[in-house]
Amino acid sequence: MGFSEIIGHKKQIDMLRQAWLSGRLHHAYLFVGPDGIGKKTLALALAQATHCTELDDDFCGGCGACRGIQSGNHADVRVVEPLSGKKEITIQQVRELEKELTLRSFSGRKKIAIIDPATLMNRPAQNALLKTLEEPPQDCILILIATNAGGLLPTVRSRVFALSFGALSRQIVTQFLVSKGKSQQEAEFLAAMTMGSLGAASKIEKEKLIEKRQGWLDMLASLTPGNYRAALVSAEALAANRDETLMFLEWAGIWYRDLLTFRVTRASDEIVNQDMLLQIEQQSAHTQENLLFSLLAKTTEASRRIQRNVNRRMVIEDLFLEAVEIH
Ligand SMILES: [Zn+2]
Repeated sequence: MGFSEIIGHKKQIDMLRQAWLSGRLHHAYLFVGPDGIGKKTLALALAQATHCTELDDDFCGGCGACRGIQSGNHADVRVVEPLSGKKEITIQQVRELEKELTLRSFSGRKKIAIIDPATLMNRPAQNALLKTLEEPPQDCILILIATNAGGLLPTVRSRVFALSFGALSRQIVTQFLVSKGKSQQEAEFLAAMTMGSLGAASKIEKEKLIEKRQGWLDMLASLTPGNYRAALVSAEALAANRDETLMFLEWAGIWYRDLLTFRVTRASDEIVNQDMLLQIEQQSAHTQENLLFSLLAKTTEASRRIQRNVNRRMVIEDLFLEAVEIH
């Protein structure tokens, strides 16, 4: 193992590694970016590099310290998450962490605390953490992980060094999946459908995704011109689940792009949903170019709004009503 084996994010990794090697790490970081792209992996890598007993300028992944950190059993490295069955990180957890951070390091090296996801700290917990951020105990590094900084108090945000991470490119995810034994075609499909989330692409099965896609296709097919009821009913059903909604929007963006690409170029090699060429040909023939453009733009915008916690049902209704609008 080692930094070079972490997938993507070269700039952020180089920056952190240089800061680490020259003893210039900040006392608190916020790693912010989409789910499943490797933020926690990198935080754990930094912790391993700090404590690795085999290497001085990297981490081996195999020594007692590295393995202890990977499995959550290292006295100087703590990952704080919601307790099982709970939806929040509580003030008690933050207080416990603070107490631990003031104790002397067991190894004589820096103590590292990772809070993931930091946005699940409720307000009292964030306020409690402020004290540590304002007067950090010696030789401690805090790494907050979040999909967006919006859920953090401005007072917390202003006291951490924010490092943004983008989605991984489709090509990088594809390569990774191929290296894990997936066929090129399956890897390309999964990479496209999960939009640069290595975590999601590794976890989900192609069959599951195809089943989900069929459900989404049926839903879109019900959105015929003038069918406002279908738009409202579908929006309500979909919006019930945040993850599902975001995943749908990623896919819908690809779908509308496929339809548009086919309508404009009649070329099939750029199509992501390769196994659905027939449907794409039929549907793209029946949908106006400007409607496809507008649906594509609205899909991207909807995803952004939901990530900013705008009411999901309203956002999806807005999109679906556009789809059923009689033009
Ligand atoms: Zn090691």
